[in-house]
Amino acid sequence: MIEERFDAIVIGAGMAGNAAALTLAERGLKVLQFERGEYPGSKNVQGAILYADMLEKLVPDFREDAPLERHLVEQRFWMMDERSHIGLHYRSEDFNEERPNRYTIIRAQFDKWFSRKAQAAGALTICETTVTELVQDAYGKVIGVCTVRLVGQVHADVVVLAEGVTVLLGTRAGLRQIPKPETVALAVKEMHFLPRETIEARFNLKGDEGTVIEAAGAVTHGMAGMGFIYTNQESVSLGIGCIVSDFQKSGETPYGLLERFKRHPSVAPLIEGSEVKEYAAHLIPEGGYKAVPQLFGDGWVVVGDAAQLNNAIHREGSNLAMTSGRLAAEAIFQIKSRREPMTRANLALYKTMIDDSFVMKDLKKYKDMPALLHTQSQNFFLTYPQLVSKAMQSFVRVDGTAKADKERTTLRSFVSARSWTGLFGDALRLARAWR
Ligand SMILES: Cc1cc2nc3c(=O)[nH]c(=O)nc-3n(C[C@H](O)[C@H](O)[C@H](O)COP(=O)(O)OP(=O)(O)OC[C@H]3O[C@@H](n4cnc5c(N)ncnc54)[C@H](O)[C@@H]3O)c2cc1C
Repeated sequence: MIEERFDAIVIGAGMAGNAAALTLAERGLKVLQFERGEYPGSKNVQGAILYADMLEKLVPDFREDAPLERHLVEQRFWMMDERSHIGLHYRSEDFNEERPNRYTIIRAQFDKWFSRKAQAAGALTICETTVTELVQDAYGKVIGVCTVRLVGQVHADVVVLAEGVTVLLGTRAGLRQIPKPETVALAVKEMHFLPRETIEARFNLKGDEGTVIEAAGAVTHGMAGMGFIYTNQESVSLGIGCIVSDFQKSGETPYGLLERFKRHPSVAPLIEGSEVKEYAAHLIPEGGYKAVPQLFGDGWVVVGDAAQLNNAIHREGSNLAMTSGRLAAEAIFQIKSRREPMTRANLALYKTMIDDSFVMKDLKKYKDMPALLHTQSQNFFLTYPQLVSKAMQSFVRVDGTAKADKERTTLRSFVSARSWTGLFGDALRLARAWR
């Protein structure tokens, strides 16, 4: 039983929770953090790309001791059909900079390190302790939590919900709805271990350089989703994810998709001879701006994946989590400094701050994209990749056919698959959702 009262309780020691706990503790607030895993990161799954800018705002000298894998010098986007891929590669020597912008990480190691920073700043972090319930007073104000391990309730002025995508606590307490299956993706991921030199030879890397591949197209069988391949020092993280309601409709299994992705002729040689040591599955909130729930209330704020703050278009999540955790903590600190209560009206400051940040601005920009990609998934994830692949093959194959004839055949294939109205409609819808 913990008799002490805290300024803040943080639920979860992932990206958002650690950012919040660190920021609060650094400002001198008394912070209690609960993590259900054996240690921070033990339950967490990510690709994983770390965005340096957002971490620098929390730990400016993180490069000195954070467990980083490779800094990214190259980004590849693949549009795949069953036997081919069309690629857009961007590689620049500029990314071999003193303070690289993006790194690959392994979350189990990274979260442990991040949590140590929060604890060193003064946060009290208790692992292997699942929060089972939010405690509310007679007026519905959140005043603390109950856990599986500690007897009784633990009280605080404010509770930061950083429980990740499962959002059980918020929904159980009636603070929000359960996310709809069409707003959440299910991703599966494997770690393929290979010697360092093999990874560097296969991906054209030297030293600590890294590359990432994001792959969309026929690998998801017309479902809205993507595959990814990220290079670590001595392993390759490989995974694929699709919207949950698409899995329900199609009867496809995540593991079946992953197996097909690994067998694809563009992917198989990259992981040939590897030893698979880890397999994990995890949900990703991908509903975007329109799926973001109420972010604050009397005595509570919600941050990171628990708040659906995830930019699926740019495959960014951990940076939104760290930023929302930090901003929530800064808002709490400001309210505390004014000696005011953690009421809904005061905690609205967090919403103002997050609306003003890249987090909400980016999600708002793509507000119509999740629904478009979902409703048009057959076209964008199957028909077009197949058409573009055929067009590219015709373009590069030299077989005595006149170029003008090839172009006419290609155009006919697009029109017969989608019709003129369909083609213009798709282009218009995409342009509107992108602007
Ligand atoms: C396969 C995959 C690949 C991804 N790749 C990338 C990528 O490359 N780059 C990127 O930026 N993002 C990526 N993401 C998204 C990113 O992982 C998330 O956006 C990010 O982890 C969100 O952080 P969070 O702290 O909100 O949630 P989480 O990291 O999920 O942390 C939540 C924490 O709360 C704990 N918890 C949950 N419930 C309770 C409870 N009741 N009591 C106590 N503790 C609890 C959990 O154990 C966990 O530690 C990926 C996600 C997946 C699934």
